[in-house]
Amino acid sequence: SWNKNLTQLLSLINQSESKDNYAWIMDRIERSLWHLWSDAVVSFQRDKEFLLDNKMRSKRKILIYLGFLSKKSGFRIQQSATAGGPLGELVQWSDILSALFTMGHELIVTSEYEELVGLVLCVCVCVCVCVIFIFRSVFFLCFFTSSLYLLSFVFSASWFVCFCLLRIIDTFGTEAPYNSLTYSKKFKNLKTAWGGQELDLRQFYTMFPHSPDNSFMGFVVEQHLNTTESRSIERKQQALVYGKSLYMWSGMQDYLSVISKHVEIHATVFTNSNEAHLLPSFVHNHGILSGPDLHRLLSESKLFIGMGFPYEGPAPLEAIAAGCVFINPKFNPPHSSLNTKFFKGKPTARELTSQHPYTEHFISNPNVFTVDISNLKEVERVVKQALQLIDTNKVKPYLPFEFTHKGMLQRLNAYMEHQDFCTPHKNIWPPVRAVRLLVSESGQSCKDACWSRNMTCEPSHFRRINKPQTFEHLFSSSSSAARPYTGEAELHHPSVSEKLGTCYLQGDNLLFSCVSRTEGYLRVCPCRNFLRGQIALCPDCL
Ligand code: UDP
Repeated sequence: SWNKNLTQLLSLINQSESKDNYAWIMDRIERSLWHLWSDAVVSFQRDKEFLLDNKMRSKRKILIYLGFLSKKSGFRIQQSATAGGPLGELVQWSDILSALFTMGHELIVTSEYEELVGLVLCVCVCVCVCVIFIFRSVFFLCFFTSSLYLLSFVFSASWFVCFCLLRIIDTFGTEAPYNSLTYSKKFKNLKTAWGGQELDLRQFYTMFPHSPDNSFMGFVVEQHLNTTESRSIERKQQALVYGKSLYMWSGMQDYLSVISKHVEIHATVFTNSNEAHLLPSFVHNHGILSGPDLHRLLSESKLFIGMGFPYEGPAPLEAIAAGCVFINPKFNPPHSSLNTKFFKGKPTARELTSQHPYTEHFISNPNVFTVDISNLKEVERVVKQALQLIDTNKVKPYLPFEFTHKGMLQRLNAYMEHQDFCTPHKNIWPPVRAVRLLVSESGQSCKDACWSRNMTCEPSHFRRINKPQTFEHLFSSSSSAARPYTGEAELHHPSVSEKLGTCYLQGDNLLFSCVSRTEGYLRVCPCRNFLRGQIALCPDCL
């Protein structure tokens, strides 16, 4: 059944040896958002929506390891939380803990390595016993921080039993060539400390729907003001700059000066007493604010100004939900692990076309303007246009459903009920009826091919369609298709070569990929539709 007992959740987190490190998480859960989780549950129950009925859900024991908060990791994330350090991970973990607990699962939370060793072995023994004696599918799941490589010792003995139970919280995502050990060994630039796990790519849960290959976990966008309260706040001729740390402001003077001709510039940047003079003189700095104070400031502002870093954080979505227009710096050429230090060593070559690709591609005008910030004329034109849209009431606060409490509960519940990496052939999800086959254009990825027809690539069906019959069915009227050629381990298979007409099956299950593409090859793609505002799910997925 649903669990709405906040004290129980807080005491569960408080038992951890490094409980001081959970202060920010506890604060977010307790202060601002708990009642909204409960409201979401009440609304589900009232409307009997989304089949989130109690009878439909199974209760699981879930071991949650937040390694990045451990004393040993040395990350000091909690300590830097009030000093401009990264908060996105803390936001996401607060919401994962809240959502899983609200859903009634039994949680065991730890961030200490020594404690984890015992717990993991215990989980593995229990799973073995269940599998051998009860023949039931597993009821344990483990959620981990993405620093999985730290855990290789723990898993070396138990890996084969436990691997299908893992869910890795992986902010930026993992792609097939980095995930496969055999493939990554072939190319020097693919070997990274974070890759080579050889898990199903959907076991990696990301912050945004970066790629259909991984599962989109997300978070909840904080909203403090109820609609009547926020409507009564008057918007001033002001902009808030997105940048909590002083280093993010380097080289931004000219860009911000242009904007300051039209609006007053505000900031929430952490500075020591001797650093305040390093900010441009026209900036009104409030220092790091608490959630409610930040949201009041956003509701009073017209623009939220990106400066190119941090990448893909929660704040732009909060600003858009508060009714600001987000000025999103465009990247040309795109930033990726191939050309940007920040992404070096991350197990993905995904290209960011702007500071915040989700807002660029999923939200866009009039809430978001993506602009080359080195082109000051263009910046000024866009700022004027955005201000005019706000002043004529053409910009409405917007929050995609997938970032609401209900959206996150719906999505996570679907994953908990349906994702099965232990017996994937038996329990294929989403069901076959939700999937359509498409052939891409030459050199196009399945992600793009499906998207161009208003669908998303569905990697869980690659295995099922990787058969000669699929090609026979797709190319029955075409004389150019030769007999399928088996066993090729290349990222773009299953595919057809444009020149020869030869059909290729994928020879290595770890290399199935929605995002891969190679010039001269037409990819064979499983695509599915999706719910409006909830790309991870489709009508048949619930
Ligand atoms: N935040 C805050 N006070 C501030 C500035 C930001 O509480 O003065 C919060 C913000 O509401 C958001 C979180 O910090 O929920 C993460 O912000 P950001 O988008 O900057 O992501 P990060 O780079 O920290 O991961």
